Amino acid sequence: MRDFSRAERIVIKIGTNLLSKNHSVDTGYLASMAGQIAEIRGRGKKVLVVTSGAVGMGAGELGIREKITGVKMRQACASIGQPLLMKEYKDAFQVHGIIIAQILLTREVLNNRRSYLNLRNSVETLLDLGVIPIFNENDSISTAEIGNAFGDNDRLSALVASKVDADLLILLTDIDALYTANPRENPDAVPIPTVEKVTPEILACAGAAGSAFSTGGMKTKVLAAQIAGKAGCAMVLAHGREESVLPRILAGEPLGTVFLAGEKLASRQRWILNSAPRGRIVVDEGAIQAMRKHKSLLPSGVHEVHGVFAAGDVIWVNEVAKIVTGLDSAEIKSLLGRHSSEIRRLLGEKKRDVVARPEDIVFPD
Ligand code: GLU
Repeated sequence: MRDFSRAERIVIKIGTNLLSKNHSVDTGYLASMAGQIAEIRGRGKKVLVVTSGAVGMGAGELGIREKITGVKMRQACASIGQPLLMKEYKDAFQVHGIIIAQILLTREVLNNRRSYLNLRNSVETLLDLGVIPIFNENDSISTAEIGNAFGDNDRLSALVASKVDADLLILLTDIDALYTANPRENPDAVPIPTVEKVTPEILACAGAAGSAFSTGGMKTKVLAAQIAGKAGCAMVLAHGREESVLPRILAGEPLGTVFLAGEKLASRQRWILNSAPRGRIVVDEGAIQAMRKHKSLLPSGVHEVHGVFAAGDVIWVNEVAKIVTGLDSAEIKSLLGRHSSEIRRLLGEKKRDVVARPEDIVFPD
């Protein structure tokens, strides 16, 4: 039996396919969503929404019917579509006397500790005011090509849930559950009601389906569950057109697939885990073993340095661990092949002779 009665903060992600109808917003659907959200909010829950659909709405406004593939066109469509989308949200929530707010995010905002704290202040203020914050990616300035995009709103919604310490993330989509295989291709596929942990087998169940305007598929949804789970947040994946889907999920009805929350990592560990790495170093196996035993990573274990990064950046170690590096790429390079006694002298008195301390090391697996 699912029990979300104690869930206080709920992030709801609404996908493009649900929101659009005839290349515009499906106002009837949005009205139903606003009604359901008003109902659960009336029970004292704090609700945050992550919306998709800006690119699709912009394309519709321009009379474009096919998938937008060009980066510049995608950016243009997002800036045309986003205000149209927000106008629809405003109208839908106004009926219930609820004020909404728009927050557009880039990956850098969440990666950077200072802008993240600013974001947290504004979100907390909005929630205290009883306003519903509505998030989307700032698609007109962040693109995958320059490496600063979240890529899809499934991931974005999980990162928002993690940052605001949500208890529950609800991903509403046009598929009713995670299946053992893609149900559109495999008639033997059966729905999976509960996922205790995202394992490679569970990831293998998720194909890579998408649609003309949205970017996510089942895989990005399972990966979102993984991010949420590490923040101690459960995730429910359900069909967004199911009657009264939100109140029924909260009442514990077994709709869709629930991904149970995992052990909640500390906020700093989550920040390391979810940050886009700025570079990569390769270390010997002994150093990896030591890191797994909560020991510091020392410069003498490093064999290769890739990329240019600063002290304080998050980088990969052998692509098995993420660390906040205490030394920049040039410093680490200058120490390659040096004995630890030399390293102390080369770094000088003021500098710590560690690449990363145990609290700056996270193993994603
Ligand atoms: N941010 C995109 C939009 O609003 C959607 C991304 C997604 O579908 O995951 O159009």
